[in-house]
Amino acid sequence: MTPPEPTLSVVVPMFNEESVLPLLAPRLRGVLDGLGEPYEVVAVDDGSTDATPAVLAGLRRGWPQLRVIRLRRNSGHQAALTAGLFRARGEYVASIDADLQDPPEAIGEMLALARSGGLDIVYGVRRDRSTDSPFKRWTAGLYYRLVRRLVGNSIPDQAGDFRLLSRATVTALRELPEQRPVLRLVVPWLGFPSGEVGYVREERAAGSSKYPLSRMLRLATDSITSFSAAPLRLATWFGAGGVVLCSVLLVIVFVAYLLGHTVAGWPSLYVAILFLGAVQLLCLGLLGEYIGRIYVAVQGRPSYFVGSDTLEEEPVEVVSA
Ligand code: UDP
Ligand code: MG
Repeated sequence: MTPPEPTLSVVVPMFNEESVLPLLAPRLRGVLDGLGEPYEVVAVDDGSTDATPAVLAGLRRGWPQLRVIRLRRNSGHQAALTAGLFRARGEYVASIDADLQDPPEAIGEMLALARSGGLDIVYGVRRDRSTDSPFKRWTAGLYYRLVRRLVGNSIPDQAGDFRLLSRATVTALRELPEQRPVLRLVVPWLGFPSGEVGYVREERAAGSSKYPLSRMLRLATDSITSFSAAPLRLATWFGAGGVVLCSVLLVIVFVAYLLGHTVAGWPSLYVAILFLGAVQLLCLGLLGEYIGRIYVAVQGRPSYFVGSDTLEEEPVEVVSA
């Protein structure tokens, strides 16, 4: 007996989440069973090195709707999310973090809103981030302001990667040639009708954050450089400003020379050299960011490798509860 094609897929990327899975599974299952729709949960194991694969295998024995995709190596949250999204079969595809910071209960609300409003995208919007650290809130606020400025106002404020997409949206995403889309920017950019469901961001249920500052910075630079050449123009402005400033300095130096004050002026010379050096380094850095992106794009390497997908294996023996 083949199970019916799911109308709803829920993609859960996870990396070393052994401690949170026993909390996530019953809660997510309770919500999804309650919806009364054929569904699948696509757990994307992003190359975990702890007991996550074993815990997932155990859960699968009593939960036939759980499908596990294992990536061969740790590829990062965005890549894991993309892997799950592109392999999900549902008419609607939701994505949610494994750590229960986003409430699974909201998925039902998202689905109902998408259907009643004929919407292709429903964003989960964080109404309250008081459980995040002040630093995280501050950097997140900065990120959204910057990104909206560069990409445009179509980016819903405080919307992360907790959202529901229609099949049409997923197809449109797959057709993009981009290998590493920054999903939270590319999704609104597609221009489908969208809605929002508010929720309160909770504390991580267990385990620790897998997003250190370095990864946050990476996401921020990728977000900006994937959507805007504005920083490059900034380099031009810096350059132009530097030229004007140096012309003025040149005149001053020349006048000083005519007046016989040639030794004085060392400080200004020093400042000019330092300033120009800094501007040049900055511009080189900016160029490097874009050249780096071009390099990665030209290589055309996939951003993840699927090691196994339980959908393509022999069905597990299902133990009825
Ligand atoms: N994650 C992943 N691969 C990684 C890092 C994180 O799949 O390389 C998953 C992680 O297991 C979680 C989600 O991405 O389900 C969000 O990560 P986390 O909760 O650590 O980020 P934070 O909420 O602290 O920003
Ligand atoms: Mg989290």
